[in-house]
Amino acid sequence: MSEQFQAYQVGKNEEGQRCVLTQLDDSDLMDGDVTVRVEYTTLNYKDGLALTGRSPIIRKFPLTPGIDFSGTVLESEHADFKAGDEVILNGFGVGEVHSGGYAQKARVSGDWLVPMPDGLDMRRAMAIGTAGYTAMLCILALEKHGIKPDAGDILVTGAAGGVGSVAVAVLSKLGYRVVASTGRLQESEFLQGLGAAEVVDRAGFAEPARPLGREVWAGAIDVAGGNTLANVLSQIKRGGAAAICGLAESMNLPTSVAPFILRGIAMYGIDSVMAPIPLRKQAWQRLASDLDFKLLDELSFDLDFADLPQAGADILDGKIRGRAIVKVP
Ligand code: NDP
Repeated sequence: MSEQFQAYQVGKNEEGQRCVLTQLDDSDLMDGDVTVRVEYTTLNYKDGLALTGRSPIIRKFPLTPGIDFSGTVLESEHADFKAGDEVILNGFGVGEVHSGGYAQKARVSGDWLVPMPDGLDMRRAMAIGTAGYTAMLCILALEKHGIKPDAGDILVTGAAGGVGSVAVAVLSKLGYRVVASTGRLQESEFLQGLGAAEVVDRAGFAEPARPLGREVWAGAIDVAGGNTLANVLSQIKRGGAAAICGLAESMNLPTSVAPFILRGIAMYGIDSVMAPIPLRKQAWQRLASDLDFKLLDELSFDLDFADLPQAGADILDGKIRGRAIVKVP
């Protein structure tokens, strides 16, 4: 029997894109072999773009936004999942071309789901969300490069945002000395509470970069792109690396080959959306073991399902600190 459920839906007409909270039924669910009762979702920068329509993130209409959810399997035709399993979904085009987490129900491909790792629950999984899982992908890239805690300071840009705050918390728990760069110096205490040894003003990275600067960082995690990333690259120590995932400042990268060919540094691009399942499982297991949940609870806050549209605008305006947890009613 078809059941009604609540969902946000983004539609498009001549006047543009509009997001409304509405009632759907099972016939509105998209194709897939696993149906999930969505328990929690969250708010990422990309969700802000989808909710407000400020950027064409949604490429199929009408569509339910929400690139992340955690929930319980209701029905499954996929060999790896059965009713009652707890699962996590991040990306794979969900919330962009396939209906996502801002609904009580979702139907997706089981090939996109990660089983809830031991030690983690559905609420905390969404406190982490794509932002935290991306932070962990960045950390895995720096580790794979061989950067150990004794190599020197690690810089995290956009530190008060979602990716940045989780990166600061995990790196510091792993024993790295973390320098947090932020435009919100009033959040210094918050960042030190997460384990940052030092907090620096992001204005120091805003001017056009010289090809090579003083060697300062053993490694870096960058969410900004633009001049910020160009300056960071010019300051990475010989043989070091940056893991880069964002464009909060700019899509451009006004740099030169100098740091790469004169200092042998590396830059790892991080794509959380299409990352393969084995890497996702590794990242989620590491989050379950290497993220201090007390800190996670401090850097996350509850956001009402009904307030998602306003919060979508707020995250784009840099007004959201840390990670939102949204209980789906
Ligand atoms: P948030 O909005 O939570 O955080 C972004 C932070 O970037 C802000 O809080 C701010 O930090 C900083 N920032 C904003 N504007 C600028 C600027 N002009 N110059 C320098 N820093 C700036 O977003 P998320 O942490 O969720 O995502 C960060 C970025 O990573 C986004 O661009 C997002 O699209 C991208 N992303 C990419 C993924 C991937 O798979 N590649 C996955 C997830 C996110 P502060 O206030 O501390 O300065």
